[in-house]
Amino acid sequence: MPFTLFPDTRLALARDALAGLSVGDALGSQFFVPGRHPEDLAAGRLPPPPWQWTDDTEMACSVVGALAATGRIDRDRLALDFAERCEPYRGYGPGAVSILRLIRTGTPWPVAAASAFDGQGSCGNGAAMRVGPLGAWYADSTRRAAEQARASAEVTHAHPEGIAGAVAVAVAASLATRARLDGDRPPPDRLLGAVAAALDPAGEVHRGVRRAVGLLGRRAAEAADALGNGSRVTAQDTVPFTLWVAATHLDDYPAAIRTCVEAGGDVDTTAAIVGAVVAAHAGVGTPGGVPDGWLAAREPLPDWTP
Ligand SMILES: [Mg+2]
Repeated sequence: MPFTLFPDTRLALARDALAGLSVGDALGSQFFVPGRHPEDLAAGRLPPPPWQWTDDTEMACSVVGALAATGRIDRDRLALDFAERCEPYRGYGPGAVSILRLIRTGTPWPVAAASAFDGQGSCGNGAAMRVGPLGAWYADSTRRAAEQARASAEVTHAHPEGIAGAVAVAVAASLATRARLDGDRPPPDRLLGAVAAALDPAGEVHRGVRRAVGLLGRRAAEAADALGNGSRVTAQDTVPFTLWVAATHLDDYPAAIRTCVEAGGDVDTTAAIVGAVVAAHAGVGTPGGVPDGWLAAREPLPDWTP
């Protein structure tokens, strides 16, 4: 049934997804510190705070800021926000740093984004890692979520797979949030099927999401083995597994994040993507949502975050 979402509600939903994203990012990145082991998390032993967030969170805060300011993605403004707010020590990849440096020094974003990787554009997971809150903002329309996710991706990711990764995550977050508003828990196969239907069937991200449907109910290690765990740092190698985890653990944030940590790979990014989608559905400080103690352990978000 059609319904109206007022801007304050959209922002509240996007902020829950951002909380899930940033806690997943910050906790996930703790497992790159020597001496930290996934078994500790499984046993309920959390790393000592504060948990510092990384590039995933910094860029996601800019996406939410852009939506809060104008209600839609203005690509020129978003590109500049990404470029001006980039703190390279936050774990940005070398490709991202060079694109953002070009934009900051006056190169138009279409030229900067197209210049990456010898003119093929980036198919990295950077556009997917920051987009979950945008999907929550557009809980009333997967079509709008997909279209605005594409706009948010294009400013840095010119490769079709890099864009498809962002569209897939945004559509998943939109559906997860919509289900929260409706009081439903979408069956995992239906959620993944709807995401796949929003993607170009010729693309690798699409094929990966379809493959993820066939792996539902299997062990996470088996799913990661078949789908990838982000260790190649591409959207194709990151997004299908993250959506498998989110669909499987949609009402259990701690279990979803533990699954990412145990699967290894690009853990801050897999946990950021999964965290955004699951928190969009399960909320913050709610049963199955982002635990209050985890949120308190996360470094505060930038002071310009809406
Ligand atoms: Mg990161």
